[in-house]
Amino acid sequence: MSQAALRSAMRRRSRQARYDEAMNQPDSADRLRPSGQVWQSGSRVAFFGGSFDPPHLGHLAVARAARDAFRLDAVLFAPVGAQPLKHEGSTASFEHRLEMTRLAIAGERGFAVSLADAPRPLGGSRPPRRPPNYTIDTLVGLRAILQPGCALYCLMGADSFFGLRRWHRAAEIPFAAPLIVAWRPGQPLEGLKAALPQGLTLEPAPDDDRTESGVAVRAFCLVNPTGDRAPFYVLPGLDVEISATEIRAQIRDDSKNRTAGREVLPAAVREYIAQHGLYRS
Ligand code: ATP
Repeated sequence: MSQAALRSAMRRRSRQARYDEAMNQPDSADRLRPSGQVWQSGSRVAFFGGSFDPPHLGHLAVARAARDAFRLDAVLFAPVGAQPLKHEGSTASFEHRLEMTRLAIAGERGFAVSLADAPRPLGGSRPPRRPPNYTIDTLVGLRAILQPGCALYCLMGADSFFGLRRWHRAAEIPFAAPLIVAWRPGQPLEGLKAALPQGLTLEPAPDDDRTESGVAVRAFCLVNPTGDRAPFYVLPGLDVEISATEIRAQIRDDSKNRTAGREVLPAAVREYIAQHGLYRS
């Protein structure tokens, strides 16, 4: 076997080992912390969940803006095992999405891959099925492993926010971790109130509006029926016209000359997709 083939086989084996570890771990603190990391009290951490099918420059732009605006110590990119509301499921396997996410964020200050939303252990049903990953459970789990005094946020794009009402225990999510919502092109800011989970109301908090590192932040406050209040933030200036659905379609239509995704994917992700023949059919 050549040196290159040997190296590639070793990389494949270590990837498989990480995947097996993710699949077999019970829901424990280990899977919530990237490489056993412990954040000191006072750290600021954002959970960024999604399919990452594939991870693209839009995801990186959102995470960079949030990191800079909120002085985040960590943005946890957490590819989801089973997205309860995407019935068609992900196109690439969890293993591939995890690896592409690692490649996409390599060298980015404060970015880490998290197994917090990895496929859950098989349930006892017949045939055995993996339970869905609910964001509220993941956030409660993450909060439990953070030191007191750490801030936990939940970062998402506007399209996810507009579907929030349908999420499991939706009204609790902004209270488990304040939401930071990155606006997407074509989504009007006026729609915010209408998209709120039932029972929540929105109040402006203009004193908390800010522009740090050139990133504009609009601040609001969410109030639930018992009067609890949670901060709620929008990044209105983010207009990144990139979607994974479009990238997958482009790759499928362009399988011959392989230029699809050149401007919207990190180079290492593009290479990985080509190498593994992902999204061709
Ligand atoms: P798909 O088209 O497959 O739904 P996506 O990129 O929209 O892909 P995810 O990979 O699940 O979806 O995205 C993870 C998170 O990143 C979601 O909260 C999504 O709203 C957000 N996001 C993705 N692309 C953008 C973008 N261009 N601008 C703002 N937010 C984005």
